[in-house]
This record gives sequence, C-alpha cells and structure tokens, in this order.
Amino acid sequence: MQEASIHRCQCPVCRESEPHPDKQLHHRMNVLVSRMDEQQRRWYVAFESMRLGHGGDKLLEQITGLHPDTIRQGRRELESDLSGRPLDRVRLEGGGRPRVEKKNLPSNPH
Ligand SMILES: [Zn+2]
Repeated sequence: MQEASIHRCQCPVCRESEPHPDKQLHHRMNVLVSRMDEQQRRWYVAFESMRLGHGGDKLLEQITGLHPDTIRQGRRELESDLSGRPLDRVRLEGGGRPRVEKKNLPSNPH
C-alpha cells in the first residue's frame, strides 16, 4: 500500500517555530485531504475557505497547497448544491490519476 503524501502547511503560523494550536489543526486538515479523492478534496477545502470568508482562499492555498482556481471551482460547485456533478465518478473529463480497479486489490479483511 502506497503511503499518502501529506502536504506541509505553508501558512505564517506553521512556518514559525513556536507551538501553536493551529499547527495541529492544519496538519490534521492535510491528513484528511490526503485521503480524499480529487473532488472531495476540492469541496472540503472550498468549504473551509467559505467558513473563513475573506482571505480564505489564500490561507487554504497555503495550508493545503491547492490552487486558488481549484478552491474557487469547488466553492462554485458547493454553491450550486453540486448539481451537475456525477454521483459515481471522480472526474467528468479525462486526465489525472488512472482509476484503480477494485477487483485487483487484495481482499479487505474485517
Ligand atoms: Zn498552517
């Protein structure tokens, strides 16, 4: 199993050496984001940006490394209740990572 790469936050608080509660929060956010697929990531980061309001896109870009255009796109999609987004597909158009066929994965022990 490939290890998920976790983005290191680039916000001003996390770049300081002093401990700060935001550091753990931002790290957790990146842990969460690292396990999401492309559109989940976009929507979650857009949601966090909306909660922050003004300046949210810039901060979320620093925290997650997502491009501001991507965050804006996610926000537009959330604002339209994700209408037009398919329920069973990660992407509408080609490109990106190839999809992994579930049948080729080792069976999941419970
Ligand atoms: Zn941070």
